[in-house]
Amino acid sequence: MELYDLIIIGGGPAGTAAGVYAARKRLKTLLLAETFGGQSVVSTEIQNWIGSVAISGEELALNMRKHVEAYAGDVLTMKEELAQKVEQKDGNFLVTTHKSSYTGKTILVSTGSHRRRLEAINADKFEHKGLTYCASCDGPMFEGQDLAVVGGGNAAFETAAQLLAYAKSVTLVHRSSDFHRADPITVDKVLSHPNMRALKNVDILEVTGDAFVTGMTYRNKDTSEQGTLPVTGIFIEIGQLPNTEFVKGVVELTERGQIKIDPRTQKTSTPGIWSAGDCTDVLYHQNNIAAGDAVRALEDIYVTLKAK
Ligand SMILES: Cc1cc2nc3c(=O)[nH]c(=O)nc-3n(C[C@H](O)[C@H](O)[C@H](O)COP(=O)(O)OP(=O)(O)OC[C@H]3O[C@@H](n4cnc5c(N)ncnc54)[C@H](O)[C@@H]3O)c2cc1C
Repeated sequence: MELYDLIIIGGGPAGTAAGVYAARKRLKTLLLAETFGGQSVVSTEIQNWIGSVAISGEELALNMRKHVEAYAGDVLTMKEELAQKVEQKDGNFLVTTHKSSYTGKTILVSTGSHRRRLEAINADKFEHKGLTYCASCDGPMFEGQDLAVVGGGNAAFETAAQLLAYAKSVTLVHRSSDFHRADPITVDKVLSHPNMRALKNVDILEVTGDAFVTGMTYRNKDTSEQGTLPVTGIFIEIGQLPNTEFVKGVVELTERGQIKIDPRTQKTSTPGIWSAGDCTDVLYHQNNIAAGDAVRALEDIYVTLKAK
């Protein structure tokens, strides 16, 4: 079996940045990604990717892919495969995907994260029947309707801003009494829209409806008073969970399943495995941060490999 210097797992900003740097350092690299571009591929407009005033998520994803493809060939191999297992074997690492197995001297895990699901009665039952996790995909189907966005971070406010373009009204439903996780400039802008309101400090109890969503019931966390919110669309933006199941037991994880890293080097608890981006225990999750952290990892991987 061919021995790679490095196997990168993940094709988001972290994985693709790592791919470019690895190839430029002439490391024999395999980039395994289930998909390319990462989570913000669904964004209609990204305004903080440095070097672009505004770019759609789709275009950014395409640019990232093209950038790595420009280096694919002799040193860099790209495969669209899902990594399912990482094991230590004979001083190297064996990565098993849904299609094959590969051996690498070092590993970079940059598998990002996925959406946290709403835990309320009937939330599962109404998924795709008025309850959705993707505003960009499903939002336009809800034109002229009263909608709810569940969450209180930047993603929730971005979703609300998108929906306000065509919804009759949008209510942001948040479990805390403030919006400290979102950028104040976005919060102020979105909340100042005449069709926007916010319901704070509530727990959602149940998603209600017949064939499709007709609303939700909630309870105020201070007063325990219950209320109903009549809406025909519910958009969930309550955070992310790391894609790290496949490295459980291989590297040390936090209680939330994030990969613990040394922020100076991106090293994990297991020598030979590095990690970068949203799957790690860094506090802040952004495209630029994920890409930058992966570059830091690459510098350290390169130095480590060359010191051997
Ligand atoms: C709706 C939305 C809008 C956002 N908007 C912005 C924004 O405007 N600006 C900003 O800076 N950030 C934004 N973010 C955050 C940003 O997208 C993330 O911080 C960033 O994508 C993290 O990059 P990553 O490479 O760590 O992981 P991800 O982007 O999650 O990429 C992970 C990659 O790994 C692949 N993968 C996962 N598991 C496996 C596996 N087992 N095997 C192989 N491949 C695997 C995935 O297919 C994907 O390619 C947004 C996020 C969301 C959800």
